[in-house]
Amino acid sequence: DSFSDSGLSAEVLACCKNFSKPSPIQANSWPFLLNGRDLIGIAATGSGKTLAFGVPALVHILQKDDKKTSKKAVPRCLVLSPTRELAQQIADVLCDAGSPCGIKSVCLYGGTKKEPQISALKSGVDIVIGTPGRMKDLIEMGICRLKDVSFVILDEADRMLDMGFEPEVRSILSQTSSVRQMVMFSATWPLAVHQLAQEFMDPNPVKV
Ligand code: AMP
Repeated sequence: DSFSDSGLSAEVLACCKNFSKPSPIQANSWPFLLNGRDLIGIAATGSGKTLAFGVPALVHILQKDDKKTSKKAVPRCLVLSPTRELAQQIADVLCDAGSPCGIKSVCLYGGTKKEPQISALKSGVDIVIGTPGRMKDLIEMGICRLKDVSFVILDEADRMLDMGFEPEVRSILSQTSSVRQMVMFSATWPLAVHQLAQEFMDPNPVKV
């Protein structure tokens, strides 16, 4: 229940320096996510859920070989979000959280020029955050490669499916590594979300 109990390094915890202790969703998620488990979270915005998955995502990336050498970063972590506003909020948090660790993030969303997003991807990133439509475009262009993505977060999964993004979400998930850890946040638990979880997650995900 305290940051020092978490055993996490100072660079990973720099993003929490203004907080007195982990929020309930963080305290409940971190031990499982740091252990490699898949997790389904029913949580509202404002609960601290971004760092509930963000901190374990940083740890996951730091364990990869290219972080120990000087090789150019390849995406290891993917966050899918239903709207541009949410994607940007998540990206802001993860950019700040990742910078003390040398972890780079890019945010991909539609309604704006592709070029800056393309050059960010080409320069090498660790975390890709975005909305399903633009993400799928950049994958089809061969610019966004997800085969090394081994940590996946679906944020507001119910809303993403309500908005009709199910084909894109499935297609994007199928591009990621088959050996992957997955986190799903949803406010509700309709059949379509349940089926998506059954298809793409471990048979026994932790529920918080
Ligand atoms: P989120 O649910 O991720 O959108 O976070 C909501 C707000 O809670 C953000 O302003 C965070 O900066 C803040 N927050 C995240 N973790 C903590 C924490 N452990 N203690 C206090 N506030 C936090």
